[in-house]
Amino acid sequence: MRVAVIGAGPAGLSLAYFLKGTKHEVTVYETLDKPGLKPCAWGLISGVEDLLPISKEAIVSEIKGFRIFLDGRLVLDMRGDRKLGYIINKPVFLQDLAEKVNVEFNSQVTRGKDGSFYVNNKQKIEADKVIFANGHYSLSKDYTILAFQYITDYAQDPELVDFYFFNDLLGYAWIFPDPYGAKIGIGGWASHDFMNEKLKGLLKGKVLNYQGARVADYGILEDRLVSENYIGEALGTVFALTGEGIRPSILSAKIMADSLINNKSFYREFKSSKLYWELQVHATMMKLAKRSPNPTASLSRMLLNSDPNLVFKLAIGDISKLELVKLMGRAIL
Ligand SMILES: Cc1cc2nc3c(=O)[nH]c(=O)nc-3n(C[C@H](O)[C@H](O)[C@H](O)COP(=O)(O)OP(=O)(O)OC[C@H]3O[C@@H](n4cnc5c(N)ncnc54)[C@H](O)[C@@H]3O)c2cc1C
Repeated sequence: MRVAVIGAGPAGLSLAYFLKGTKHEVTVYETLDKPGLKPCAWGLISGVEDLLPISKEAIVSEIKGFRIFLDGRLVLDMRGDRKLGYIINKPVFLQDLAEKVNVEFNSQVTRGKDGSFYVNNKQKIEADKVIFANGHYSLSKDYTILAFQYITDYAQDPELVDFYFFNDLLGYAWIFPDPYGAKIGIGGWASHDFMNEKLKGLLKGKVLNYQGARVADYGILEDRLVSENYIGEALGTVFALTGEGIRPSILSAKIMADSLINNKSFYREFKSSKLYWELQVHATMMKLAKRSPNPTASLSRMLLNSDPNLVFKLAIGDISKLELVKLMGRAIL
């Protein structure tokens, strides 16, 4: 079976990697001339390293600490010897994968009037299946928020990631280690100017670069899931409360690859996965918050009153139903 994949991000390249050596002949088409150029803070929670090669060169640092602040007040501080994840050099990580699969760079895919897909409006794609792994670019503003970050020379502890939440912003900010020092960013349901003002309070060090993009926060788009043609952020695989999208995009690609290999319904396999449930927990909390007259109140209450271990498990999408019930109780009370 010939499979065309649109987009050489974590989702598209992992899918090609997982299908390598099977009866599926995969070509990935990527608009840009190299992978990993999309703005991203490069945080990767543990959980995919057994599925994919992550070379030493692609690891900037190992994350062993995780802090959460609410309006500047430290509400969770988890630090120890346990490896929680990585800061990866995303372009290097994706380039490593790209070298193992068949990718055509400088190849933008569009749909012709005849319904077929074309590369750079010229070459028709001959494939039995086309899979969209084209990320937030394929999503309308209703399903995404603006996120932007400054790269600075501030010497953030390379093993520590910091998350910031605010009572007057439905969104999040972060300070992550970076090879140059730190990535200090913010994303949410607010104007650029409002968020930039908030971010100024967190900015440290000399600004070296500024970058931004939109990021999904809606959860899974059911019509896309039903079509069985979408993976990664294009399907909505981003944790709405934290903006984590690399690991879930890779996991969605794994489920797609296994479904194709075993001739199973991606819809059914994805829907019964732990990943689907975890993503929907985040998305539901975000939707409930948006509908509430005071959108951030319940999230703030939860952060202030709950067992920090449960907050951490929620943040990384690793929470059980019972733990969620406990957390929700704290959010309501
Ligand atoms: C500022 C910011 C910081 C972030 N930080 C983190 C973080 O620290 N950790 C984390 O886990 N997530 C983070 N994310 C989210 C994460 O970057 C994405 O969710 C993740 O990259 C999604 O992977 P993907 O493969 O689905 O899509 P993408 O990475 O968006 O890849 C899609 C690819 O498709 C290509 N493409 C699009 N249209 C076409 C077309 N028509 N033809 C050919 N190619 C096309 C694009 O050029 C792109 O390379 C962040 C997002 C933002 C905006």
